[in-house]
Amino acid sequence: MDVERIVAPNPGPMTLEGTNTYLIGREPATVLDPGPADEDHIEAVRAAAERRGGLGDVMLTHSHGDHSDGLALLGAEALSPADGERVAPDLLAIATPGHATDHFCFLWTAAGNATILFSGDLILGMGSTIVGPRELGGSLGDYMASLEKLRQYDLELILPGHGPRIEDPAAKIDEYVQHRLMRENRLLAALERGERSRALLVAEVWDDVPEQLRPAAEVAMLAHLEKLEDEARLPSDLVD
Ligand SMILES: [Zn+2]
Repeated sequence: MDVERIVAPNPGPMTLEGTNTYLIGREPATVLDPGPADEDHIEAVRAAAERRGGLGDVMLTHSHGDHSDGLALLGAEALSPADGERVAPDLLAIATPGHATDHFCFLWTAAGNATILFSGDLILGMGSTIVGPRELGGSLGDYMASLEKLRQYDLELILPGHGPRIEDPAAKIDEYVQHRLMRENRLLAALERGERSRALLVAEVWDDVPEQLRPAAEVAMLAHLEKLEDEARLPSDLVD
């Protein structure tokens, strides 16, 4: 597997140990997600590309700054593939909206290699990813559909946008789907019991989330409420 990972120095609750920049293949190397606008990081990416025979196509999994802000420093423009388009050598672009409307995963199927998915922020190496409501560019309905879409591929490895590699893709996709359904079921149960306070709904359904991630849980709940509303499963008396 001719892939090199360079971790950008932007650790945080949402980026884990930092954003993963991947260099794929060589002569020239394809760069996936340049990462944040950090000069040392971009210099490391440039040097790695040189060692691999030059900088070729640059692609983004999505336009969030922790993946894309380094583009200008790299002096590159990102390709904007369509869903199902073959890009670079041996990469298939797969539209996977949900975390962001412009989110793509890339499937690498080079001869002699395992079927590898570069999952961006659709699936992370640890924990779960943030899916916000539409006003924040998210959609939980789209996100669930994107996870389901990946099941058609016989994946051997996932290389995520943050965190370590995922060695059991099918189990991880199941885990991600089940995790969201668990939240949804708990939210529905609380609503059915008559709970209408949004603060109490978050506290109950996201009771395992540490305090510093409570704002993220509130955003996640908005996405769940939007999905239930889209599916006509939201009680009409839920007030702000
Ligand atoms: Zn990210």
